[in-house]
Amino acid sequence: MTHLFSRRGLLGTGLGVGLAAGVGTPARAEPAASGTPIAILDTTVIDGTGAPPQRRMTVVVDGGRIAAVGPARETRVPSAAAVIDGRRRFVIPGLVDMHVHSSGDEAIDPPLYVVNGVTTVREMSGHPALHDLRRRVDAGMLPGPRSVIASPVLDGSPSLLAGRGVPYLDVADAGEARAAVKRAAVDGADFVKVYTRLSAESYAAIADETRRVGLDFAGHCPDDVPVTVASDVGQRSFEHLFTVWCSTSADEDSIRRALRAIRIEPGDADGWFRAIHPLELRAARTFDDRRAAHVFHRLARNDSHLTPTLTMHRVVDLPASVDTDDERLRYVPAEVRAAWEAGLAGLAGLAGPAGLGRGGRTAQDAELFGHRQRFVRAAAAAEVPLLAGTDTGSAYCFPGFSLHDELELLVRAGLSPMRVLLAATRDPMQYLGLGSGTVRPGGLADLVVLDADPLRDIRNTRRVHAVITRGTLIDAARRDAMLAEVEQAARSSSAVIHSCPCG
Ligand SMILES: [Zn+2]
Repeated sequence: MTHLFSRRGLLGTGLGVGLAAGVGTPARAEPAASGTPIAILDTTVIDGTGAPPQRRMTVVVDGGRIAAVGPARETRVPSAAAVIDGRRRFVIPGLVDMHVHSSGDEAIDPPLYVVNGVTTVREMSGHPALHDLRRRVDAGMLPGPRSVIASPVLDGSPSLLAGRGVPYLDVADAGEARAAVKRAAVDGADFVKVYTRLSAESYAAIADETRRVGLDFAGHCPDDVPVTVASDVGQRSFEHLFTVWCSTSADEDSIRRALRAIRIEPGDADGWFRAIHPLELRAARTFDDRRAAHVFHRLARNDSHLTPTLTMHRVVDLPASVDTDDERLRYVPAEVRAAWEAGLAGLAGLAGPAGLGRGGRTAQDAELFGHRQRFVRAAAAAEVPLLAGTDTGSAYCFPGFSLHDELELLVRAGLSPMRVLLAATRDPMQYLGLGSGTVRPGGLADLVVLDADPLRDIRNTRRVHAVITRGTLIDAARRDAMLAEVEQAARSSSAVIHSCPCG
């Protein structure tokens, strides 16, 4: 969502970069053959079911599946197995980032995900380069995560995304909405992405048409549709915390009137942000426990998931908190870095609510971000299913690395480390229909071996010792090599920023 705030659109920069660069170039860092069994000996398993950690266990992986998980003394290890010393280490299921916008540059995003233990991603704005990339990753031609890919973003008309390099379709009415859903199905989208400025009429048509063609829909809660209504008609996940909390406000009626009155020019995302910002603050300040209980109950009952993307919100709410010398910037091409800097400057320059200068904005935004964290904690306490997602492609949101930031922010919001791990493993894998997302025999061989206990301190998920992705081992030496290659690729990237042809 941060793409809203730069001239080119930050999301657009992520999407556009490298679309032309990757295709046809030889894959670097060829993955090792996945035929070799792997054994992690005498380790602690946090199996992703929510059960307490199991100590002194051995995990055996073979043929892309988990072959055995058992007590170290009793579990047979194949003689040909590659062995990892698991003592003082912790095994968790492969991590999932449920909100990414990858560039399609095979040399940057896919390796960054897997070296960080992110073995599955959900792509939130589909374009042909992502489908091409997935075919090659799935064929074992290069390392990368499993991916589930959205349609182009379906927005209302005029769209916030016009001219911003993001693959989108603006739909003016129910007829156009149905046509867009049919086209998404034909084009092979895994689900339909809905967006902010859809009218209630177009939105209802999307809900109906997706059911007909057998696709899910997920994305933003449109300004024009209360989250409870969207949940009832089947939106499977709600991304970000922009209008979701209008429905938990004691002031909902007047906030809805103000939302309906927002008018924007095509591509005027900054104008939308200026309009929405004071409404968000009002909604947050008038959060009502009784209304919230009702809303959260509906979401939980409908199995509607919430992806808070606190990582993105922190950048947008608190641009001054961003470390512009972040060492992870070495993995970001110069063109993208420049666009991020411009975007950050734009964010800092947004005046915020009418009548309040920049000085006022800082205090208000710190307050707003605090409200976001409390909202997430309240939703979690009410058993709303949560998903960990970051919004890579937006400014200062790093593929792979930032998922660990999100986990930390969710714990700081008041969730337990175990709950947060589940929101990044079992729950998203089951949401996506990709398996159990657990360390159990028969499960997918997507695992992360950590050097320290993530339940003691969630920041320990960053201490990745090794990753197993589809049964292939990425050990410490290979991780280092892959990171060095990404750094080199970012330095020599001739990526140009341009509009995706599928808009
Ligand atoms: Zn997004």
